Amino acid sequence: MAISGKQLINGLWVQGEAGQYQAINPATAAAIEPVMSYASKVQVAAAVAAAEAAAPIFAATSLAQRAAFLNSCADEIMALGDELLDRLSQETGYPKARAEGERARTCNQLRLFASTILKGEYLNIRIDTALPDRQPLPRPDIRFTNQPIGPVVVFGASNFPLAFSVAGGDTAAALAAGCPVLVKGHNSHPGTCELVAQALAKAVQKAALPGGVFSLIMGSGREVGSELVLAPAVKAVGFTGSQAGGMALFHLANNRPEPIPVFAEMGSVNPVVLLPQALAQNAEAVATGFVGSLTLGVGQFCVNPGVVIALQGPELDQFCRAAATALAKVPAGVMLNEGIAAAYHKGTAHLAGQAGVELVAAGEAIGGKAGFCSQAQLFKVQAQAFLANPHLQEEVFGHASVLVVCQDKAELLQVVSSLRGQLTGTIQAAPDELAAYPELVQQLRQKVGRLVVNNYPTGVEVCDAMMHGGPFPAATDARFTSVGTASIARFVRPICFQNYPAALLPAELQNSNPWQLPRLINGVKTTAAVEA
Ligand code: NAP
Repeated sequence: MAISGKQLINGLWVQGEAGQYQAINPATAAAIEPVMSYASKVQVAAAVAAAEAAAPIFAATSLAQRAAFLNSCADEIMALGDELLDRLSQETGYPKARAEGERARTCNQLRLFASTILKGEYLNIRIDTALPDRQPLPRPDIRFTNQPIGPVVVFGASNFPLAFSVAGGDTAAALAAGCPVLVKGHNSHPGTCELVAQALAKAVQKAALPGGVFSLIMGSGREVGSELVLAPAVKAVGFTGSQAGGMALFHLANNRPEPIPVFAEMGSVNPVVLLPQALAQNAEAVATGFVGSLTLGVGQFCVNPGVVIALQGPELDQFCRAAATALAKVPAGVMLNEGIAAAYHKGTAHLAGQAGVELVAAGEAIGGKAGFCSQAQLFKVQAQAFLANPHLQEEVFGHASVLVVCQDKAELLQVVSSLRGQLTGTIQAAPDELAAYPELVQQLRQKVGRLVVNNYPTGVEVCDAMMHGGPFPAATDARFTSVGTASIARFVRPICFQNYPAALLPAELQNSNPWQLPRLINGVKTTAAVEA
């Protein structure tokens, strides 16, 4: 199916009623065909009504049915073939290899959620059977499970047009949980959004699910995005993007007559601490690794290392020389869109203008390159100037970083303790060196969602053990991850059944344990049936 520029509402592709626009190729600044449409408020309401109607039907599907549906979503995305990869490259400036890698990640993510729900651990089933003879009071039969929270609105980010977009992590987790999803597509890659939505619509149809299980709405975040978040039938929001966007939606959701959770992942500066022995032993390798992480994907990752903290000394000088050599070879890169490139230029100019900040290394200059290009930059500042200026902790989205030079260990700890909440914190340490810095580890643990040692923060593995989130302002709720199978917990809510007729219990709570799931029965984890 060709790209139509339409909205997917209740299983049907309909022309948006609130205006038209075209995607822009960031490598050339040229408009891309075809003309796309924006949804109206009436169309948003129709999509929400369809999701509300679909919610109980989708919630009643078995784990096996939902797993098959998720696998089918992955199959249909793969079946889009090169058309998807080409469109993605056109809309983002990403090379085809990146598009291919991200498609694999997205499909593997859907399949991982399929296998995860079949295991049933996420339901956290607990059964305390009745103790009619207990003294002084009998105990009733009580059974606990997790049920889908209800329709979820997903806002994708510009920088992951597949893995954090229409069928990305939030959508996969919500569908796996049994929640209908309404995606507010990102206007930076609308054709990619539509192609993926076509694939999901096919999977919905093949599974004979109601059309309202999945909708794609295009339009302005402030208009249709806000409308979606305010719709009473919507029960949760998944967001990846800017601080301003995430917080606007968070406040909107909290001021509803019925507040709902907003799980916003809003990026951070991801401090990297370079310990002296690590540099003394291998300054060049550390510098090359750092520059690779900083400039990967033109630095357009929420886990990009935006702040480096180190002790002054000859080892650090060696690191700086090696980083400058490596950075000089980095070509000017095409950014995702005009707004992101403009924000990068403004952010780096702002950094350069701050007291005590100097530019110490840079990549290839933009020169006469077409499109929305940017130059990689490494700045340096002394710790006291960093501590005195909170602006230096603000994320500049792209391949820019600030090296904070500390006079001694105490100052280094002071800098770390001044940091706000982060997605990640990284330490480069020689063998045994980490043990000499217990306060550093202790402090970083308070600040981050993921603590990395002798790796770099870029590259977020989608797995059972991943934590992608962190204390505010990295995310709105430090208790949850937005990547990996644990992220399903955002879209379920617990319910317990007390003294409930056995024959009417949800399948996972029935005595016979028809799905053979692990359950905590009277304090013991088992897959056995409950003795009636
Ligand atoms: P964004 O501007 O926050 O947009 C993400 C989504 O949220 C878009 O669909 C956007 O819709 C919507 N939105 C933004 N502000 C909104 C508001 N006030 N009310 C309702 N909806 C709103 O993020 P982006 O476009 O991906 O990138 C822009 C900046 O975000 C970057 O420069 C960077 O600083 C940051 N960023 C962070 C991450 C991360 O992983 N945390 C990833 C990418 C970017 P509209 O575009 O239609 O307004």
